[in-house]
This record gives sequence, C-alpha cells and structure tokens, in this order.
Amino acid sequence: MIYPIVKYGNPVLGKIAEPVTTFDAELEKLVADMFETMYAAHGVGLAAPQIGISRQLCVIDTTVTDKLGTKLVLANPAVVSTEGRQVAEEGCLSLPDFRADTPRPERTTVRAQDVHGQEFTLSGQGLLARACCHEIDHLNGKLFIQHLSALKRDSIKRKVGKLVKAGEW
Ligand code: ZN
Repeated sequence: MIYPIVKYGNPVLGKIAEPVTTFDAELEKLVADMFETMYAAHGVGLAAPQIGISRQLCVIDTTVTDKLGTKLVLANPAVVSTEGRQVAEEGCLSLPDFRADTPRPERTTVRAQDVHGQEFTLSGQGLLARACCHEIDHLNGKLFIQHLSALKRDSIKRKVGKLVKAGEW
C-alpha cells in the first residue's frame, strides 16, 4: 500500500516519535508499505512520521543510486558516533522540489533494531551516512533545513508559505 507523504508544516514532522515495542506481522507490513511508498516517490529514505505515523522507524535503500548500496530497516535507531564532514545536495520527500547543500558527517555509526527486533550496529559513509542522519533526524522531529544557514532556511520557509497560500502545498 502506498501512503500519502505528509509535507513540511504538518505537526507530526516536528514530534519525537514513539519507540517501536512490538515486532510482529503488522510491523513487517508497515515496513513493506514504507518501502513501496519510498520507491513510488523515488526517495532513498523514508521515516514513519513522513506517512503520519509517529514511530521510531525508517527505511533506507541506497541501491537506488548505487548498485553496491545498502537496503535497510532501522527501528529505534540512534547515532552512536560520527566522523568527518561532507557537504552535498540534499532533499526530502516532505519538502518536494526543495534541495540545498547540507553538511553531514562523512561517516556515521548507527545502532538500531531490525524488523524482527534484532539489534545491530552499522557504519556507513557518503550517501548512506547522509541518509541515516537524515532519517534519524525525522524521528527526532528535525528536518534537513535545520542544518542550513538561517538565510537559506528562511528563504525555503518563505517559498513554502507562498505555496501554502496558493493552495499548492
Ligand atoms: Zn526527509
């Protein structure tokens, strides 16, 4: 099932998501739906709050841009450590058509649980590190524009405001 993706301005995107406590068939179905929704929207990552579900759950698939990429499910994830810095263009399915050079760590180590509740630790660099940071931010009520300069962020907010007024958001 493909869910509608909620956009910037929806309060669910600003909330700290609730932990996943039950690892059952319902969660597996939700994860499958999140992958389906993400692929349909041509994203490399999707967090549950982006479909209006305030839970500590996200999916990432960097094979979309790199055959040697990684496909993964992160439940209750946390960034354990980071290293270095990278700046690259970033976007968000909840801010369609807005992209901006965004600073992120070059390498990130994440601890999380998989869809069955099994704990694991994963280190990634480049796009994978970026995607992990971006999606985990969503679970903490943060969007990528919070990593931009106030000038750039305000410019995006103003443009979104205009789209809202025009009924196009
Ligand atoms: Zn996003």
